[in-house]
Amino acid sequence: MSKPPLPDIENFIDGAYVAGSGVFDDVSPVDGSSVATVQEAGADVVDMAVRAARKSLEGAWGSSSVTDRARLLRRIADRIEARSEEFVAAEVRDTGKPESLVRDLDVARAAMNFRAFADTIASSPLSSYLTDLADGRQALNYAVPKPLGVVAVIVPWNLPLLLLTWKVAPALACGNAVVVKPSEETPSSATLLAEIIMEAGAPAGVYNVVHGFGPGSAGEFLTAHPGIDGVTFTGETKTGSTIMRAAASHVRPVSFELGGKNAAIVFEDANIDATLDGLARSIFLNTGQVCLCTERVYVHSSIFDEVAAGLVQRGQKLRLGRPDEPTTTTGPLISRQHRNKVSSYYDLAVAEGAEVLLGGGVPNLGADLDGGAWIEPTLWAGLDNTARVVREEIFGPVAALIPFDTEDEAVRLANDTDYGLAAAVWTSNLERGHRVAQRMRVGMAWVNTWYLRDLRSPFGGNGLSGIGREGGENSLHFYSIPTNVCVQL
Ligand code: NAD
Repeated sequence: MSKPPLPDIENFIDGAYVAGSGVFDDVSPVDGSSVATVQEAGADVVDMAVRAARKSLEGAWGSSSVTDRARLLRRIADRIEARSEEFVAAEVRDTGKPESLVRDLDVARAAMNFRAFADTIASSPLSSYLTDLADGRQALNYAVPKPLGVVAVIVPWNLPLLLLTWKVAPALACGNAVVVKPSEETPSSATLLAEIIMEAGAPAGVYNVVHGFGPGSAGEFLTAHPGIDGVTFTGETKTGSTIMRAAASHVRPVSFELGGKNAAIVFEDANIDATLDGLARSIFLNTGQVCLCTERVYVHSSIFDEVAAGLVQRGQKLRLGRPDEPTTTTGPLISRQHRNKVSSYYDLAVAEGAEVLLGGGVPNLGADLDGGAWIEPTLWAGLDNTARVVREEIFGPVAALIPFDTEDEAVRLANDTDYGLAAAVWTSNLERGHRVAQRMRVGMAWVNTWYLRDLRSPFGGNGLSGIGREGGENSLHFYSIPTNVCVQL
């Protein structure tokens, strides 16, 4: 019997599917099989998308009210939930993540993102000033937010739908039109979202999708296009710096969520069981492919052995396997290419003197999964902050455990990085928790928890980890520009 043809994932422009100038394969990291073909957008297709977005701003969408846009966002959230199993299937097909993780994290958060920004835009205050002049006159100043315009949205593969909707929801809330470029590894959910946004009643051209790679492909064509008004990007730091150069040519604003090398600090008074559960989650969730994941764990020397043993025990309980097996806790890495990178760090760690406490290699999961991108969850001891594996982002299920003796030393070690995204402090002394969290040179510091988010709070990184903040009003500041009106009274 012949196999059914693979799905063909097309670009989406001005409310319709559009073929590309070439095709590439969407490959499953579970077993290396091709799961779809993807239409790659050339410069002409990207140009069509940018023009369609601009046209939509000149039509009814350009004068849409906040109330209408908030309603649209809520309808999109409802439609995502109504078709949630299709999103689960799309994300699982592209990423190989456990189904339960996709259902509970990625798809649930996508709907939440739209609802959260519907609430934020509906309650966003206007800033106004009553100005008293020396001569007795008065003036009323008020700032009216306008959309930024056509926004290029470029996202990575690790949380494809979650990170995409985290940008698209506030962009639409503020009345922008977007051209989205999902990662070449995960083209499916952005394309499915196009259908949902149309079903929810957005005008054609407000949400466009172009597929392809970065350099010499859709990513570069989009960021270099003179018709875009800003770029919002999540991905690697070095890609961010390339995009910044492209944006500079027309002096366009950028919002960047980039890489990290996040630290956890475990004090001797931490509640050990809760800390170990939280730490293990922060190292291994999504096979370590969350920008917030912990890759450096500084542990007070008096409890170092206990923490190391407890983490190893939790790592040993992880079950690598197919996404639809209910016992699976951990999927593959995104691709063979990424596995090569992570594996090379596993080798480098040994060369740098690491004691391998857990894992350290490529697992043997049987012939069916041999073509996949599987990697063992891994823990190291015996390294310090001079090791490259302790300084460079790996983006896999791995952490180095390093002892410390004093609070000042822990803070110094945790802050000894060019990145500055997230940190977690584990202690039962809340006074110390506040104190140390505030000394972390990061965008987000947690105390006795990790990845607990209020979507209104600022999200972003310092240093090599990014530019700007997302979340609630912070996102609105990027996606809108104020016009100040001054009326003499
Ligand atoms: P990446 O930078 O390789 O790719 C991200 C996106 O940029 C993809 O869509 C890619 O096609 C596109 N791209 C690549 N080169 C480009 C170019 N020259 N011009 C325009 N577009 C280009 O990142 P990745 O490997 O997909 O994702 C992993 C990285 O993302 C990690 O570094 C991780 O820390 C980071 N990340 C950060 C956050 C955060 O919130 N700070 C969240 C998730 C992931």
